Amino acid sequence: MPHLWQVAVNSPIRNLFTYSDELGSLRPGTPVTVPFGPSNRKVTGLVIDASQETSSKFEIKAIFEAHPERPALSPILLQWLQWLSDYYIHPLGQVQEMVFPPLKKHSNRVSKKAPIIPTVDKVEPPSLTEEQENVLQQVSIDGFQTHLLHGVTGSGKTEVYIRLIEKVLEQGKSAMVLVPEISLTPQLVHRFAERFTDNIAVIHSQLTDREKTNQWWSAFEGEKKLLIGARSALFCPLPQLGLIIVDEEHEPSFKQEEKLKYNARDAAIKRAQLEDCPIILGSATPSLESWNNALTGKFKKLTMKNRVSERTLPAVQTHFLGGERDSSLPYWLSRELFHKIEKNLEDKHQSALFLNRRGMAPSVQCFSCGFISMCPNCDITLTLHGQHHLVCHYCDYHEKLTDDCPDCTEGSLQAYGLGTEAVEKDLQKLFPEARIFRADRDEVHSREALEDMIAGMEKGDIDILVGTQMIAKGLDFPNLTLVGLVLADVAFNIPDFRASERSFQLCTQVSGRAGRSIHPGEVIIQTYKTKHPSIAFAKNHDFIGFAEQELENRKTFGYPPFGKIASLRLSGLQAAEVEGLGKTLVHFGEQALSHFKDLPEVKIMGPTPAPLARIKNRYRYHI
Ligand code: ADP
Ligand code: ZN
Repeated sequence: MPHLWQVAVNSPIRNLFTYSDELGSLRPGTPVTVPFGPSNRKVTGLVIDASQETSSKFEIKAIFEAHPERPALSPILLQWLQWLSDYYIHPLGQVQEMVFPPLKKHSNRVSKKAPIIPTVDKVEPPSLTEEQENVLQQVSIDGFQTHLLHGVTGSGKTEVYIRLIEKVLEQGKSAMVLVPEISLTPQLVHRFAERFTDNIAVIHSQLTDREKTNQWWSAFEGEKKLLIGARSALFCPLPQLGLIIVDEEHEPSFKQEEKLKYNARDAAIKRAQLEDCPIILGSATPSLESWNNALTGKFKKLTMKNRVSERTLPAVQTHFLGGERDSSLPYWLSRELFHKIEKNLEDKHQSALFLNRRGMAPSVQCFSCGFISMCPNCDITLTLHGQHHLVCHYCDYHEKLTDDCPDCTEGSLQAYGLGTEAVEKDLQKLFPEARIFRADRDEVHSREALEDMIAGMEKGDIDILVGTQMIAKGLDFPNLTLVGLVLADVAFNIPDFRASERSFQLCTQVSGRAGRSIHPGEVIIQTYKTKHPSIAFAKNHDFIGFAEQELENRKTFGYPPFGKIASLRLSGLQAAEVEGLGKTLVHFGEQALSHFKDLPEVKIMGPTPAPLARIKNRYRYHI
């Protein structure tokens, strides 16, 4: 009698399907192709377990073949995939697809050394600081333990990672470093290459499919022992995984919001647990969830309070934008910041101004009738780019700015609010001699462009950098001594219970770019709310104080990490239909709740329109 297997098939259906094995060579973890659906089309799948089925009302089909391009997975990886599927409620057959590279393996890979890893000479390790030494002594590389490394910007976290990786590689094991996509710069890879030369594989979304595939195989086959990647790299089945590092663990970009909705930080902890290896979460501004886990002892807390080599944290000043204004300056620029930029130019130091908004202005409005240009497809204002270009940042709809208001035809439309383009333009007028570079998604739309920008900063070809969050994180420019946060309020004025936390993180991360080398750094935060906790605590580099106060707020309102929140998102072309379905679901949920008397308090709220109530003509509600 042929063996029967349960197979996770790449389809939206969450059930496993029973197939018979005519090949006799399969086991749990073998990737296969199987006939699926009425037309028996060939789809990919993964053998999960022996089937107990003895009779079936459906015809049991035979597996076509073991997938010719995909290697078998270990029991541990299989267990982890099953956990992902259960925990994040996503079909196992689709989850397992995320493990494998996009293309066929090349039998004769031409270049062994992928060009994405720079060739650099090995650099001797620095002698450790006392704090680094102390942290390293507290981490055992045997067995599972989650560590939270809270180290201020510039405290030398990367050196700690490198030392741990060295230990793990010495044992013949492999290691993985996950960083936010945006931090995965050539600069970062370079720093690891200085120590591990070409023993590195890199996986991120900007690589070609060929590059991804080659990198994947070199990691999978153990040819490269260190994998550095963005969140999707977590799925790579490294042999003998001995250590996982999640840098900037607080970053929201570790969360994938579509298809498999997972948080790579949390999934990494689960993987480390199953692989029985240590994991280090590192950040200067840990997420409050992780911080709370460290306070309760679930995570082991490691601390580095000082920058290396007695470099000081930058002096942070806040400046109230609503006060008296100097009419010779643009309204967004305080006298203090202006003078500091001027001085910095004289001293031949670099400055960076940060504003998390692209374009000239986030909206245009008729000052006669109040009309605001909106996107016809989305519930959002059109952003002005250049002199006449109105663009929707959600669906790319664009139109030309007309001279007269299209509504009242009398008044004229005027830019309202501020974007990076306007900041750049104003600076050019104020400092005609300065070399100004704007780094946002309009100007820097490829990896190459980003590399050019970084090279320009390193070579000193840029005096003033103006940018969005693209320049907020990870970058390390020795000559950058002045950082200005143009309008901090953008970050905390968003409808999200994490707004304060995000804003604190942003202020701290942006400040962390300043004065990372021998010259001390200065930071000016411009805001209309100087007393906002996220700014007041960031100014004093006081993460612990901020966390204490914010956790208290979270507790009062039952927000995470004290309560749990699940969001159901609904969208569709007819608002009434979407809302109606939402109501039905709420009703259903309330009925279900009434059957579970012993549950802790559960509240269902909604349906209400989501913060962006319509995008690309789809109405969005949430529960
Ligand atoms: P973090 O990741 O904590 O912000 P980095 O790891 O980027 O900090 O370190 C900041 C700078 O200090 C880097 O330029 C790094 O090369 C340097 N550095 C790290 N450790 C040492 C050390 N022990 N001695 C001297 N310089 C160090
Ligand atoms: Zn739009």
